Amino acid sequence: MKLFEQTRNAMGTVFRICLFAEDQTHALASYEAAFEEIERLEETLSMFRPTSEISRINRLAGQRPVTTDGEVFGLLEKALSYSRMTHGAFDVTVGPLMRAWGFFRAQGRLPDGDELAAARSKTGYEKVQLDPPSRIVRFTAPEMEIDLGAIGKGYAVDCAISVLSEAGIAAALVDAGSSTISALGAPPGSSGWRVHVPDPLQRSKSLSTLALRDRSISTSGNYERFFELNGKTYGHILDPRTGTPAHGVLQASLVAANATMSDALSSAAFVLGTEAGAELVEELNGVEAMWVLSEESLRNVVTCNWSRDIVKERIPLEPSLGRTYRA
Ligand code: ADP
Ligand code: MG
Repeated sequence: MKLFEQTRNAMGTVFRICLFAEDQTHALASYEAAFEEIERLEETLSMFRPTSEISRINRLAGQRPVTTDGEVFGLLEKALSYSRMTHGAFDVTVGPLMRAWGFFRAQGRLPDGDELAAARSKTGYEKVQLDPPSRIVRFTAPEMEIDLGAIGKGYAVDCAISVLSEAGIAAALVDAGSSTISALGAPPGSSGWRVHVPDPLQRSKSLSTLALRDRSISTSGNYERFFELNGKTYGHILDPRTGTPAHGVLQASLVAANATMSDALSSAAFVLGTEAGAELVEELNGVEAMWVLSEESLRNVVTCNWSRDIVKERIPLEPSLGRTYRA
């Protein structure tokens, strides 16, 4: 068995697949099938592609019932179930809010009160109606927009893992830009794939090391897409309950049985923070979470059911992090 590795750009990030195979032919064929699957899902789920099924739903479902396919319907059902589970902290209807805050055009801005109220009236998972027997999707308010940004990559990772498994691969790691990582099996002779939770302030430093096997981890943070205005940082994960960027948490990581779940729930953990977040984690089987907070200019690590070692030291936060605008 030899280790092979390949990367490809997709879904606005870099996907990396590591796998063990007997020979290069098997490895290459497996990559090809997995990357093709990821590309297929981007074409189906991206709200930025006018030809995607999600764009079609976004254009039409505010005006009339839209029948969609079983896969997209199933993912929407799952997304709404995470919304209910998190009491609205995870909500794929944040599209109009993301737009109001300028995140889609990479031009971060503060919406005024009227703009925010207008965007909030177009937001809310309870305004999405799903009818399972007919697979009909309907929005009960006009101009709503489904944004699968916090669950789509996780779903794509799960599908890529399935494709690799069907191709006869027993050990693989699928990594979507380090924000969601899923492990199939383990490298020969080891207990799992070594994965690090990075320190959000020094990404090359590890806060905790996992041996991941048939599980997924997602990390949500504000260091990738955010803007700064008058000394305040506004990140791309919104609290749908207030319509404003979630604040207080530097980074939330969550381990779960699959990547769809870890992706959605790491964003929810980021929004919920440590207390409500831990309540959620305690209700779920086999879920582990870790938060990095900034408290009184220290960075503090809080965990819930985290079964691995963590670096516990409280290190001073740098006054200037040398961040650049990347909303
Ligand atoms: P990343 O894409 O960096 O891994 P996340 O998985 O946390 O980060 O997803 C963040 C993206 O999800 C945002 O860019 C936006 O498109 C969307 N989003 C923002 N806030 C929420 C939320 N509360 N619930 C669901 N989706 C959200
Ligand atoms: Mg997420």
